[in-house]
Amino acid sequence: MMTESRGGFLCDPVLEQLGVHHGFAERGAQPPDSTVFLRQVHGIRAVRAEPPRGPARSGSNGERPAEADAIVSKTPGLAVGIVTADCVPILVASADGGSVAAIHAGWRGLAAGVIEVGIEATGIAPAQLAAAVGPAARGCCYEVDEPVARALAVRYAEHLSGVLVPGRPDRYQLDLPVLAARILRALGLVQDRIGLAHCQCTICTPGPRFESYRREGATAGRLRHFIAPISSLR
Ligand SMILES: [Zn+2]
Repeated sequence: MMTESRGGFLCDPVLEQLGVHHGFAERGAQPPDSTVFLRQVHGIRAVRAEPPRGPARSGSNGERPAEADAIVSKTPGLAVGIVTADCVPILVASADGGSVAAIHAGWRGLAAGVIEVGIEATGIAPAQLAAAVGPAARGCCYEVDEPVARALAVRYAEHLSGVLVPGRPDRYQLDLPVLAARILRALGLVQDRIGLAHCQCTICTPGPRFESYRREGATAGRLRHFIAPISSLR
């Protein structure tokens, strides 16, 4: 498993080879100041980040974040981000590096189709996209109950083998990153452009290296992931 970290961020080879600036955060890592974040609500709305207006603005900090769980950027160098603590962060880029998206997918968002919405919002054919799946709650640690299992089965029955595994009575162990990767594949992304280099379990990876809501409860911090379109198209 690849564990190299740059400034507290983990880069996935499938995005790295496109020259796209991005990172999955480890605990405390700070993305570029101008990164546009969302007010995440475990829903299925996607928005597009617009370049900051006016000369003196330093990024999005003064603006109210949009309520959404996926964000697209097609502005050279304008980074977009999402925060997680056990939910799956997915970073997406077009083959030319000119379009990117960041998607926040917990079980609720997955069950509602947030990955499909986020991919669609890029406006690019899935076969022309690369996507990386970051650190999130995995089957070793992430126990869910019957209603969660049922909600996922409605939409993804064919993808749940080995991903949603019976555990204690009326409980299941859920592997969020592997389910996310299967959904991306089903949408038409090419298998070797789906990166899983950094989908370690946020709950049990020692250190602890990641923030985890399941491990720490309401006091858990958040991991701040980002991705930006390349600054000048070749
Ligand atoms: Zn674990």
